[in-house]
Amino acid sequence: MQNKNAKIAFIGLGNMGAPMAHNLLRAGFTVAVFDLVQTAMDKLQQAGATQAKTAIDVVQGADLVVSMLPAGKHVESLYIGENGLINHLKKDALVIDSSTIDAATSKMVAANLAENHIRFIDAPVSGGVAGATAGTLTFIVGGKPQDYASALPVLQAMGKNIFHAGDHGAGQVAKICNNMLLSVLMLGTSEALQMAIDNGLDPKVMSDIMLQSSGRNWTLELYNPCPDVMPNVPSSNDYQGGFMVDLMKKDLGLAMDTGLKSQSSTPMGALAQSLYTIHSQQGNGHLDFSSIFNLFSKQEKQ
Ligand code: NAD
Repeated sequence: MQNKNAKIAFIGLGNMGAPMAHNLLRAGFTVAVFDLVQTAMDKLQQAGATQAKTAIDVVQGADLVVSMLPAGKHVESLYIGENGLINHLKKDALVIDSSTIDAATSKMVAANLAENHIRFIDAPVSGGVAGATAGTLTFIVGGKPQDYASALPVLQAMGKNIFHAGDHGAGQVAKICNNMLLSVLMLGTSEALQMAIDNGLDPKVMSDIMLQSSGRNWTLELYNPCPDVMPNVPSSNDYQGGFMVDLMKKDLGLAMDTGLKSQSSTPMGALAQSLYTIHSQQGNGHLDFSSIFNLFSKQEKQ
């Protein structure tokens, strides 16, 4: 198990990584940070982190590395590319990669690092920027049981629900299965609500009916896509904040790649991917993913 004296290197201080690193500092860990963006590092330094000039510098003496990067190519290049950290991490160091990437890249990076006796877990998250800030993220881990156990105190400083899904790559598979289902639920809820509106029903009343009926689901409970049905959700704030359409599109791309490799039948996911792609191409990529509601709106198309 990692104790509070463990030296943590944190790489990738974007929307998610920055608040996660803040929570590690709050929990009393010693944290060194690196990002390509200087201002992102400055903010963490003000909160007590040490900043490094390069990724190689930041892992000097680190017992544990947390990375939170955009995509698989960034993770692959950071750890096993030219000048990869594989040649600079100490033996037995533990890498926690929380980026959402394809399971194949996670497995490949894990296998390469293992050859140098460096441990790796994939630990993608659910919960968005709000969860990262509040320290209530869900972590879905793939890796060896002993490495999962070793990572737990660090993950608990950034999250609330922590699952061990299986061996390397299983965290990524579980995460994109969940997000594929979420996209389908959001689309189904949106088209049902819009059809109710087209037929003169009040979306609030319709939502209450479905919440007490067999159509009940997470989007109706916590994330209604119709503006002004629910307070404090992106739909009631011009679809600002929350989980971007383009990130959902990225996750659906990962889901389709995974389904293709495992020869799984994913017609609902494939349709969701097409609809989110259209929605993004219409200039909505930066909006919250619940804005897909507008794709079904007669008003929007007039
Ligand atoms: P982001 O684009 O805000 O942040 C990525 C950060 O990584 C940036 O600060 C960038 O400068 C840095 N970076 C890129 N390459 C680097 C390198 N080689 N070395 C150091 N720093 C580097 O992205 P984000 O929203 O924080 O998302 C990060 C990951 O988390 C993604 O895989 C995303 O899919 C996943 N995720 C995001 C959310 C969300 O709501 N934003 C929710 C769940 C999961």
